[in-house]
Amino acid sequence: MNILVLGSGGREHALAWAIAKSPLTDTLFVAPGNGGTAQIAKNVSNLNAESGEEVLAFARENDVELVVIGPEAPLVAGVADAVRAGGIAVFGPDAQGAQLEGSKTFSKEFMVRNGIPTAGYGSFDNAPDALAYARELGAPLVVKADGLAAGKGVIVADSLDAAEEAIRDCFTGAFGAAGSRVVVEECLTGPECSLLAFVSAGEALCMSTAQDHKRAFDGDEGPNTGGMGCYSPVPIVDPDELAEMQRIMQQAAEATAREFACDYRGVLYGGFMLTPEGPKVLEFNARFGDPETQVVLPRLESDLVEVMLAVAEGCPGDIGLSWSDRWACGVVLASSGYPGSYEKGKAVSGIEAAEALDGVTVFHAGTAERPDSGLVTSGGRVLCVTALGDTFESARAQAYKACGLIDFEGKQLRTDIGYRASIGRSA
Ligand code: ATP
Repeated sequence: MNILVLGSGGREHALAWAIAKSPLTDTLFVAPGNGGTAQIAKNVSNLNAESGEEVLAFARENDVELVVIGPEAPLVAGVADAVRAGGIAVFGPDAQGAQLEGSKTFSKEFMVRNGIPTAGYGSFDNAPDALAYARELGAPLVVKADGLAAGKGVIVADSLDAAEEAIRDCFTGAFGAAGSRVVVEECLTGPECSLLAFVSAGEALCMSTAQDHKRAFDGDEGPNTGGMGCYSPVPIVDPDELAEMQRIMQQAAEATAREFACDYRGVLYGGFMLTPEGPKVLEFNARFGDPETQVVLPRLESDLVEVMLAVAEGCPGDIGLSWSDRWACGVVLASSGYPGSYEKGKAVSGIEAAEALDGVTVFHAGTAERPDSGLVTSGGRVLCVTALGDTFESARAQAYKACGLIDFEGKQLRTDIGYRASIGRSA
């Protein structure tokens, strides 16, 4: 069958890579795609991926039978609703389901209503009330712009002064419309861990755990980024915690079936903090994570297209997930200056040599193929170099060996991806 993936990041390259491996796939389109997806699929550059009408028209013209939505923006914009209404199977929730990610107030209300463990919070549409609640909570506390802010709308404030500044920033437009409502939240402590699940018809089929590294520099220093690396599974999660996280994901899936007008059909991403009182949900996302996808999918042995079709058609009972026992470690190579401003158009070399190493796959994020200069950088996060290994240490060593073979001017990377897997819980 013909399949269309929407998106352009490392996540979408990983999705396209797994979809392309399936014998069920005929022609694979990625809109708009990147330099990596161009090698395994047809990139479609002239499609507005946030317009349901355009996506549906493209799907019809090209006999697409499954549309896979990578990023959150098209989900929140209702692209899944439009394509589904046109009779084409979609992997990704409708706009109501996507509000679990699109509005932190919606998400917190959903959690509280359904008894899902999460941080105490208040939601406000004006600064004086938000400030009063912040003073009541006391520092440290967390201030979050309600809407989508590309991971930048969350401020963990160590002092009341910092919290007040963050609240004022939100209400004076620092995050645009996303900050016109603000969630003020109790600050939780503990290591973080993501657990993604395929959700359909009220069933959650959990994938394996992963841990992202959001800060730009080693030792979790520097500004927040989209994610600088990831590994899977996460050994510091004990079996009781894992069981509780899986129970919470199932509880959430059942609640989507009970509460939402349409079935939630796609990925539900649970961002957890492993607090001393047990795992609590920091956030839900309505799609695969980036870079989690780049370490989770290489470990999935099941046919991803079969799984996605079962999810899209509301038949989760047909899904059997099987996982490799190997470990995965993914290291992001970014442009110098990221997450601030950075230059583009730098020639990228060494990917072939890196991929010749056992167990290594290089997922592209910000790359483009230029007729004159070949593969060049075109974004902040350029590549995610993923290696599989029989132990975490061997996966990590292989990933860094591969990173050393790849070059572009200004290459920036963290050298400590997965350090918590090695030094344990205290980190
Ligand atoms: P992203 O889109 O990057 O996943 P986001 O903008 O949706 O992020 P959250 O995941 O809710 O925001 O928060 C980002 C980070 O802020 C978390 O990974 C965590 O480190 C920190 N954080 C969020 N909420 C809390 C909390 N209640 N207590 C402590 N830290 C928190």
